[in-house]
Amino acid sequence: MEIKSPFKFNFLLELLNNLEMSKNEFEIMNAVKKIFSDYFEENSLKIVDVQVFLYNKVLDCVCDFTKPWQKVDSKLEKKANEYFLFFKNNRNLNNTHTPKFILNDYKIIASSGITDLNKEFKKNIKQNDTNLLSVSLSSMEKPFGILNIEFKILSGEIKFNKTFPEVIYLASSQVANAIKTLDYVKKMEKNIKFYQTMKDVAKIIETQYELAYILPILGEMIDKFISQHLIYIFLKNPRKNEYTLVWPSKCTNSNVIKILNNTMSLTTIVEENGKMGIFPLACEGKAIGAIVAYNHFEPLTQSEIEYLEQLSTQASLTVDRATSYSKILKYATLDALTGLNNRHQFEHRLKQEVATAKRQSSDLCCIMLDIDFFKSVNDTYGHAVGDCVLKNVSKTIKKVIREYDIASRYGGEEFTILTPNTSLDEAYLVAQRLRSEIEKKKINIEEYRIEDVKEISVTISVGVAQYEKKKSDPSSLYQDADKALYEAKERGRNRVVTYSNDIENKKS
Ligand code: GH3
Ligand code: MG
Ligand code: MG
Repeated sequence: MEIKSPFKFNFLLELLNNLEMSKNEFEIMNAVKKIFSDYFEENSLKIVDVQVFLYNKVLDCVCDFTKPWQKVDSKLEKKANEYFLFFKNNRNLNNTHTPKFILNDYKIIASSGITDLNKEFKKNIKQNDTNLLSVSLSSMEKPFGILNIEFKILSGEIKFNKTFPEVIYLASSQVANAIKTLDYVKKMEKNIKFYQTMKDVAKIIETQYELAYILPILGEMIDKFISQHLIYIFLKNPRKNEYTLVWPSKCTNSNVIKILNNTMSLTTIVEENGKMGIFPLACEGKAIGAIVAYNHFEPLTQSEIEYLEQLSTQASLTVDRATSYSKILKYATLDALTGLNNRHQFEHRLKQEVATAKRQSSDLCCIMLDIDFFKSVNDTYGHAVGDCVLKNVSKTIKKVIREYDIASRYGGEEFTILTPNTSLDEAYLVAQRLRSEIEKKKINIEEYRIEDVKEISVTISVGVAQYEKKKSDPSSLYQDADKALYEAKERGRNRVVTYSNDIENKKS
């Protein structure tokens, strides 16, 4: 055996150590480049470049390891693909005949001993030009990519040591291992994140009952985990017995809808060579909708099918609860998330207060507010933080208003306050105070563990309107406040606008 050279051991050990410490594609490539450079230099060779290409099933070609979704540039691509295919198609022969290297287009088969290998290397090295050495990267004897090393000869004559080819081969299998390990780690992290997100979603939807709000959250979440597939959520129209798309806003694939309308099953269906999965949403034993995953290129993997099955079960529970919630809601008066009156109760109280104001000829105002750019709070920090903001805004509302004012969550991130016995000027002051308190308030979000962000703040836009006797319909008070709110948004947000005839004229 010729493994006496301490440098060979040092090289392999150092490579192993460095690869072990690498946490991503770039660190792996840096470790490989640095250590190969040192080793090559020791053998009077100079590295020009080192690249790793991995086979991508979806694109059906090899891609740069650090840019997995990008086709490599055409010259490189052709060569890298050709070499990869060569390694792939020539495996599984008697191991001793498995090709080990391609050096300057010459295929070196390891059929003989180290000395012969070394001879073949020396024979095919170009003296005055850049050399390209390609090594197969495999896992369990199955090639999944290639390692390309471009190098030049440093001094006049070739003098690299005898075990050089063998060491490169061993080193390449270390690189292959590191790449596979990174892949497993990523998959594992994805699993952990998946379960964490499932838990978070379960928590969020505990207090939500509007399907229009819940389904997009589910859609976005599934989309994150099954990134290579298009995700659609459908609900069944019970009267027409037909599926309608609820998330995202468009589905251009008519086949999806056709297949869906022909399937009424309550179990998972995988169609079109595994490229389309239908995961039913069920409620009280009946199909009420479906989550559909679709990909033009690749079939769903087993683990994706399992994810989607879990998610559709979870989603079914949610839809189920939302449905019964909305039934209960008819009797409930408070909003579950904020503890303020709910919309139903607001409408009830509006009628009462308008009747009183009319009877007693007293003042009554309505303040309507909406959080500015709230969607981006959800998008940036997640829906749990969004909910935390809603709770905080509600708290501030409760703090600022008087005891007999009536605060409600009208829906989503919109709130109303009815202020009996209050003039328009007074109501305007209350609204301004509220706006400024909310603007000043730092909302602590440490518990949500968002990197570097401990607190956030939001602003609101507010519309104020006064009850006018001549408008007999109680809802006109709310509508006037809403028009003023719209105007506040138009004028740039984070401001209070009082309803006036100008606004009315502008709108109509
Ligand atoms: P604008 O300044 O124009 O009001 O912009 P916006 O982003 O606040 O308005 P938009 O109406 O586009 O977004 C409202 C968002 O509120 C979208 C919806 O997902 C979110 N939302 C509605 N209800 C809830 C809820 O209960 N919790 C959370 N976290 N978000 C909610
Ligand atoms: Mg809104
Ligand atoms: Mg808003």
